[in-house]
Formats: sequence, structure tokens, C-alpha cells
Amino acid sequence: MAELVFFSGTMDCGKSTLALQMDHNHAARGRVGLIYTKLDRAGANVLSSRLGLSRGSLEVGDDLDFWESTVSRATAGARIDYLVCDEAQFYTAAQVDQLARVVDEMDVDVFAFGITTDFRTELFPGSKRLIELADRVSVLQVEALCWCGRRATTNARVVDGQMVVEGEQVVVGDTAPAGSEVVPEVEYEVLCRRHYMRRMTSHAARAASISPEVLPFDLDVCAVPSPPAHPSESTRPPLPITQAD
Ligand SMILES: [Zn+2]
Repeated sequence: MAELVFFSGTMDCGKSTLALQMDHNHAARGRVGLIYTKLDRAGANVLSSRLGLSRGSLEVGDDLDFWESTVSRATAGARIDYLVCDEAQFYTAAQVDQLARVVDEMDVDVFAFGITTDFRTELFPGSKRLIELADRVSVLQVEALCWCGRRATTNARVVDGQMVVEGEQVVVGDTAPAGSEVVPEVEYEVLCRRHYMRRMTSHAARAASISPEVLPFDLDVCAVPSPPAHPSESTRPPLPITQAD
């Protein structure tokens, strides 16, 4: 019995790596699948992972109908056992409905991979629909880490060094390479909820540690009251890392 499975997580948790591994495992058992992605960091028609793996893939445009496309490929004689669908958060709700129909009526497995929430901590439309329809939702076990070492559950958008919480839902950027001097205009950083709420990115934390006389975060942007300092937090220096998957 085919299944619609949604593998979810934050950025940096290894989704694309697992998507490629999933394809590899099924192909190694003689199954035939198609790989789809949308707005991959490496460009159109490539599914890439931060570990350096990549594979050719089909680009998902807004006008793609997964049902029509899969039916026409099968009608033309193609064997399709499964679909690997990366960056599924960017798919439309209608496309997720089409994927569910492919599972139910064509007995094709669909393995979808995506980020659940955007930089405002709101669900992406594709992820929302997948959570509603999937046979299983699996939270990836490779946990992305905030600069403080806690589990990261949010994706912060940083524009020219400043964390923002308003703007277009989809602006493609990337996590800055570790130690890179050139900062992209738009980048993303995974944060724990506490530091998301405080707008405390690794950059802001470093700036605060350089000036010990100033408060560790700007009170103007700190909407939450500060809890008593955690003993280990006050002694642990901020880690100047960008966690890669
Ligand atoms: Zn944190």
C-alpha cells in the first residue's frame, strides 16, 4: 500500500541529504522514482544537499499538475514506483492534493520533505496541506542547533545583518558559509524559540560578547521578559558558527 509521508524539520536538519538517501535506497532495491524540487539553492533541476551531494531533478513550477504529469508518464510506458519531493513547503496546496491522489489511485509512494514554518513562525501552505493529508508526518531526527546549543525550532531571516519578522514569505537565501566575509543580502539562521523571540542571532550574540558592558540584547527588540539567567548560559561563550547539516 503506497503512502504519502511528510518528513519535516527546520533548515539545516539534513532534509535534502535524506531525500537523496531515500532515492538511493529505493533505487538500490530496483524501484524507479522521480525526484522533484523547487527553488533549490543550487538552481533549477538540481536537488543538492549541504553535504555536497546533488542529483538531477525535475523543477516544480506553480503550473505543474502532479496528477496529470504522473498519469501521462505512466501512459507513455514509464514505470513510477515513488516520487521524492523536496522543498515541498513551496508547493501549492492543490499540488499536495494531487500528490495524495497519485498515492491513492496509482499506488505510487510519495516522500515529501520540507520546512514546516517560515521566518515568521507560520506554516508554509505546502507544509500545512501535507500535515493535513499525510499518512505519516516524520520529524527528522537530526536536530539543527541554535548558536546557544539548544535545539533549533525556528528559521530566522536575516537581511543585511538584521533579523526581520515581516516580509514576503518566500525569499530564497542560504545559510552563510562559516567564516565567510561576504554576507549575502538575505540569509537564514536556525534559532531556538527563546533566541528567536529575542531576535538574538549568532551575529547579535557575538556583538554583545565583544561589548560586555552592554546588555546582552537590545531591550527595544526584546518583547519577552528575560527569565533568570541560566547558569550554563552565562558562562558559555556564544559559538560563532553557522550550523550546517
Ligand atoms: Zn538559542
